Amino acid sequence: MSLDEIRARVTQAEADAGRAPGSVTLIAVSKVQPLDRVEAVLAAGQRVFGENRVQEAAGKWPALMDRFAGVELHLIGPLQSNKTRQAVELFDAIHSLDRIRLAQRLADHAQERGASPDLFIQVNTGEEPQKAGVLPGEADGFIVECRALDLPVRGLMCIPPVEETPALHFALLARIAARNGLSGLSMGMSDDFEQAIAFGATHVRVGSAIFGSRAYD
Ligand SMILES: *Cc1c(COP(=O)(O)O)cnc(C)c1O
Repeated sequence: MSLDEIRARVTQAEADAGRAPGSVTLIAVSKVQPLDRVEAVLAAGQRVFGENRVQEAAGKWPALMDRFAGVELHLIGPLQSNKTRQAVELFDAIHSLDRIRLAQRLADHAQERGASPDLFIQVNTGEEPQKAGVLPGEADGFIVECRALDLPVRGLMCIPPVEETPALHFALLARIAARNGLSGLSMGMSDDFEQAIAFGATHVRVGSAIFGSRAYD
C-alpha cells in the first residue's frame, strides 16, 4: 500500500507548482478493489474516496462509513438519470454532470433536500464519441444553464484520451474553468496526477497507484 508515497508526491507537486500545501485533494479511487485493501487505506487515515458506479458504492460504503468516521465520497463515473436520488443521498460530490436532464433532476433533489452534493461538469476535451461529457464548445453554455438552476457547480472534470498527451487536455480544461470563474479542476490519475497539479488540478483521482492494479473479471 503506497498511500504515503502518493501523498508525498502530491505535496511535492504542489510545491513544484508554487501551489499552497493542501490545495490539492487526493481522491483515492476504490472501485473494484477488494475490501481489505480499502480498509487498509482507511486505517492509514485516508478519508476521501472515489467510486465510478452508484450501485457498487451503495453496496460497500454505508457499512464502511459506520466504522470509519468522516468519509467523503465522490462519484467519478457516469450517472444514469434513474440513479440520481440514490446518488445525491450517498455522495458528497458528483464529477460527471454532463447533460441538462441530469442537471434538472439534481436541481429537483437539491430543492427537496435543501442540500446538494458539490458538482463538477465533465468536459469531453478529446471530443471522443464514446466518452461522456459536454463538448468544449458547449461548456460555457452548459455552465450558464446549470447556474441558472442554482446548482453548486464547483468546477470541471476531464478524462484525457489515453493515446494523447494529457497536458493539452489539462490546459484546455483549466482555460474553460478560468473564463467561467470556476476554481475546481478534477483532473489527473495514477499516471499523470503530478502533471495535472502543475496545470492547476484541485482534485486528483488516483486508483491503481494507491491500491494496486484492479482485477476485473
Ligand atoms: C478508474 C478511474 C480513475 C483512477 O484511475 P487510475 O489509473 O487507477 O488512477 C480516475 N478517474 C476516473 C474517472 C476513473 O474511472
